[in-house]
Amino acid sequence: MKPRDQEATGPLRDAHGRAITDLRVSVTDRCNFRCKYCMPAEGMPWLDRADVLSFEEIERLVRVLGGLGVTDVRLTGGEPLARREFPRLVAMLRGIETIRDLSLTTNGYLLERDAAALVDAGIDRVNVSIDSLARDRFHEVTRRDALPQVLRGLEAIAAHERVRPIKVNAVAMRDFTEDEVFRFCELARSSDYQVRFIEFMPLDGDRSWSADQVLTGAEIRELIETRHELVATPREPHATARVYRFAQGGGEIGFINPVSEPFCADCNRIRMTADGKLRTCLFSIRETDLREPLRAGATDAELDRVIRDAVWRKELKHRVNEPGFVAPPRTMSAIGG
Ligand code: SAM
Ligand code: SF4
Repeated sequence: MKPRDQEATGPLRDAHGRAITDLRVSVTDRCNFRCKYCMPAEGMPWLDRADVLSFEEIERLVRVLGGLGVTDVRLTGGEPLARREFPRLVAMLRGIETIRDLSLTTNGYLLERDAAALVDAGIDRVNVSIDSLARDRFHEVTRRDALPQVLRGLEAIAAHERVRPIKVNAVAMRDFTEDEVFRFCELARSSDYQVRFIEFMPLDGDRSWSADQVLTGAEIRELIETRHELVATPREPHATARVYRFAQGGGEIGFINPVSEPFCADCNRIRMTADGKLRTCLFSIRETDLREPLRAGATDAELDRVIRDAVWRKELKHRVNEPGFVAPPRTMSAIGG
């Protein structure tokens, strides 16, 4: 079979044989935090509102992608809950029969307000980003004194037993996160949240990333193992995290190691930005505009072709660890992490 024939029908697949079933949708590039590893303190240029996809446009594109084999959709940003009436979008996407798993990544600041509405709208799973469990250090990283409010948000969503698993994500930074590791272990052991450490990636708004600031998952695991025995759990297909349980019982801890142990080989993921650009890798330099054909009245079949073509050219792997690596023009909050 010629590669082009393979591309024309059936589930979405790239030229390296990977099936694409997972979509991250950024619903806004704006945010109520200014995390150091993500956004500059000020001066971040925002998208014009007219360029941001409406809920109806997002729904149409997700429906088309659902028809091509996407089953899992995660809503992100910027801060998704900062977008007005966000739960309404969740309800709209819940109505797409092909989407089996609908999840959200949030900084948690507005979660206490929105938890019940999100559950009513049909959200399946929620990840809350918390980089420090000490109020002053949380303030230092996010540039907002908001830890108590975020923890209330976490509790508010966790009160809904239907929403599981709940994951707490912390970006790991050298000379910062080491002091937090055991506090996060206690959180994991005293709750049913899966706590995960994410390696710092070169997608920060300040463009000040350097490899020596990356505290690797292996280093954190070694530190944890000075006090707790960890047992690896079986790796699920396409999982980005390596997950361990505490041998003494209680809780799970995960490591997302895109820098030190890239997981590109079985990547099943694509992304859509708030302004309707399809990105086939977090680190893509090239994007495919879906908004323009959508607003020009493209049929589903025409959108199918544009999407299949873009996915076919999905990057084999990221090149963060290679000499000459070029960071994408968009930074994390504008891509949708
Ligand atoms: N505002 C929401 C939040 O913070 O959860 C959703 C968007 S945020 C861009 C998604 C995730 O990306 C968060 O867990 C955040 O910590 C992570 N992130 C942002 N910049 C990062 C970077 N440079 N390296 C690694 N993770 C990063
Ligand atoms: Fe906002 Fe999330 Fe970026 Fe922090 S990581 S600045 S909360 S988008």
